[in-house]
Amino acid sequence: HRMKFQSGYEIAVTLGLFLGLAAREEPKLAKVDVLVPVPLSEHRLEKRGFNQAMILADTMKEVWKRPVCNHVVRTRETETQSGLSLTKRKHNVRGAFAVLPGFDFRNKHCLIVDDVITSGSTFYSLSRLIEDYGGRPMGVFAARTEILRGVTKMLRNCEECNRLFSHPARSLCQDCYDQAKKSFDAVKKYLRDNPGATVAQVARDTEVDLELIYDYIREGRLDVIPKDARLQCSICGAPISVGRVCAKCRNDLRSTMTSEPTRSQGKPKVDSRVHTLENIKDR
Ligand SMILES: [Zn+2]
Ligand SMILES: [Zn+2]
Repeated sequence: HRMKFQSGYEIAVTLGLFLGLAAREEPKLAKVDVLVPVPLSEHRLEKRGFNQAMILADTMKEVWKRPVCNHVVRTRETETQSGLSLTKRKHNVRGAFAVLPGFDFRNKHCLIVDDVITSGSTFYSLSRLIEDYGGRPMGVFAARTEILRGVTKMLRNCEECNRLFSHPARSLCQDCYDQAKKSFDAVKKYLRDNPGATVAQVARDTEVDLELIYDYIREGRLDVIPKDARLQCSICGAPISVGRVCAKCRNDLRSTMTSEPTRSQGKPKVDSRVHTLENIKDR
């Protein structure tokens, strides 16, 4: 039995409709003059076929009657944010956007519409740019109003490509999941057919990234491993056949972790990177 999940496009349309209706009823958003979807780079747009943030904004416009500004462009490729620390994320998106001529931002309340649920760095970078042009950026999105809480709970951003998707257990969207499975299957089959192969040979013939092949070995997923694959304990450097740490170091780690009393880390950390309709940043 295979469950059917909505495509990224359908998800964006559905969410955009909900967001538009919710925004229309939200008094704090009444002064919004224009919707500014976070742009994708040309390269990524080509790869994905559409920009979810743009579809969100376009669908919101249908029910909320606010114009969409498409004069913001991405000037350079940024790495997928999901694997990066907050500092790296901020650095990653700095100077990543530019404004094309033909749109007057002055004194306009601009609602930045993003399809990313948990990263605020794109928002900060883009809002600074809008301020530079005299506009007044406002926060959000992929939001969580009361109405949307149920919807967004089922959505997440793909760890690989950052697109919104819906699946109860996976961290990858359907496309990336299929791609990951294809790569793994190719490596597994190649090694079964060519048991004496080296890591470099596997990488070359399957076109799967070297690091990815090492990940498979570390995770113990391959029944035949490349003959020259040498894993080292990342703490002491001893040779190991699976995982990242040798048995001895793992034991040492375990005893230090259990002997230390568990302390709470001060006040509970509020995830300020999540922009919600309730904490809209209005400046
Ligand atoms: Zn993906
Ligand atoms: Zn070790």
